[in-house]
Amino acid sequence: MVKPVSAVRKLIILALVLLPLLGTVLAMRSLWHRAVDSSDLALMVGLYVPISMGITVGFHRYLTHRGFRTVWPVKALLLILGSMALEGPALVWAANHRKHHALSDQAGDPHSPQDGFFHAHVGWLFSGMEADAQTYARDLNEDRLVMSISRLFPLWAVLSLAIPFAVGGWHGLLWGGAVRIFLTHHVTWSVNSVCHTFGSRPFGTKDRSRNQWIVGLLALGEGWHNNHHAFPRSALHGLRWWQLDLSGLTIRLLERARVVRGVQRVSAAEIRARIERGLREAGLAHPGAYAAEASEVA
Ligand SMILES: [Zn+2]
Ligand SMILES: [Zn+2]
Repeated sequence: MVKPVSAVRKLIILALVLLPLLGTVLAMRSLWHRAVDSSDLALMVGLYVPISMGITVGFHRYLTHRGFRTVWPVKALLLILGSMALEGPALVWAANHRKHHALSDQAGDPHSPQDGFFHAHVGWLFSGMEADAQTYARDLNEDRLVMSISRLFPLWAVLSLAIPFAVGGWHGLLWGGAVRIFLTHHVTWSVNSVCHTFGSRPFGTKDRSRNQWIVGLLALGEGWHNNHHAFPRSALHGLRWWQLDLSGLTIRLLERARVVRGVQRVSAAEIRARIERGLREAGLAHPGAYAAEASEVA
């Protein structure tokens, strides 16, 4: 059921999408007059990496898929960092993403490229296809920490801008705020649009998910999206040594530091079995292509 989106909500989403773009244009103008200095870039990267990890490790692999367990301070930190990406409160993000996995590339998937690439990238935010948190995230509704951090979303949004402003003034706000938000948004959205359109499909999943290495790099490992749809609970998305997965590496480091436990992994035997299942389910549709990719991953 598609719900109507209120005009105020549309305006807020539009502002969230357009203001970082405007910031990028301003940043380029300032570049035109003098080269952006290394402290601006350091601030941008220094905020991009931990805040993106809040999305990939916190919102996605931990909260949505339960890929590992952790102690509450790490959980709180990851969820606050994720909130600072301005992609909505943790509860809403997780509900939407669970709905995506439940209905991948079928009717009701909030952001499938079946409804157009632009829709999958950003248009879906305006479509009223948001998941019902009671249906898709009932467990999280009973989690007091998740609910408190989700309710305080406006505070994390202000912090997301106040920190770069405090560190670098207006210039810091531009690079560590607007440009960083712009990049985080488009990289996350690319997982929904690009990684369901372009790239390889070593696993014959029922959706259109694909592995795309550029998104893999920029989205800190989330671009190995066909791997992820084949093994949604796995906390590690890079399944081959060359599939760089910075979020997976971070989870393994946290595991070594003993603040993360129960990390969900897949064995080589499970990978082989999944490829064979995909081949069977694909029937004789594309046996050649699937078999070639299967031997690459096996
Ligand atoms: Zn997907
Ligand atoms: Zn997922």
